[in-house]
Amino acid sequence: MPSHVLIVEDERDLQKVIAYNLKQAGFDVVSAHDGETALRAVREERFDLVILDLMLPDLPGTEICRRLKANKETASIPVIMVTAKGEEIDRIVGFELGADDYVVKPFSVRELILRVRAVLRRADGPGEPSERVDFGVLRVDRAAHRAWVAGQEVALTALELRLLLMLLDRRGRVLTRDLLLDEVWGSHVDVTTRNVDTHVKRVREKLGAAGDYIETVRGVGYRFAAEPPAEGADRAARTPTE
Ligand code: CA
Repeated sequence: MPSHVLIVEDERDLQKVIAYNLKQAGFDVVSAHDGETALRAVREERFDLVILDLMLPDLPGTEICRRLKANKETASIPVIMVTAKGEEIDRIVGFELGADDYVVKPFSVRELILRVRAVLRRADGPGEPSERVDFGVLRVDRAAHRAWVAGQEVALTALELRLLLMLLDRRGRVLTRDLLLDEVWGSHVDVTTRNVDTHVKRVREKLGAAGDYIETVRGVGYRFAAEPPAEGADRAARTPTE
């Protein structure tokens, strides 16, 4: 059965483009142009995912997100926020609002569809991610707890591997230091966000050529690159004689 997606967007042209492309990609789509309509739609129908614009004529997208996540009936519906404002990103990805992901305007529809698929995959339940992840020169086998860069095994501690997977599994997305702290370290009271920086630095050093995949987002946290570097550049670096 196709996934049922609600698009909440008041810019009609953008809403049409998103709806058209999601339908082409096999999704079942409903659109709302304001917050009240969106909330009513969610009460009446069961959605698998909501794409939610931040700036709407009646209610801010942040408020809608908060209400969806506060209601037991709708809390599990994944939300992708669409924002034009860089300064909101920290709050959105910091999970203060509970959004599952976000895109910043202007975004490519292709990127949005990739995010939609990724969020739906995650929402599908535990045990879903494949055991082996290949990204550029990096390979991680999560079941075996091993990692390789350009075929050479890299010795990572359990914590470093958890940190790497946290970033890698959410590639293209900014993760705040606080979030990494919560997710990777758990409730250790003796750990601070400084430890996050130290460990990211160590993981980068150990990864060598693949260390650049982990980007620093100044003042916010870290992001694993959305896409590996161009295939051609990669191949040329590995096999210069071919
Ligand atoms: Ca808008």
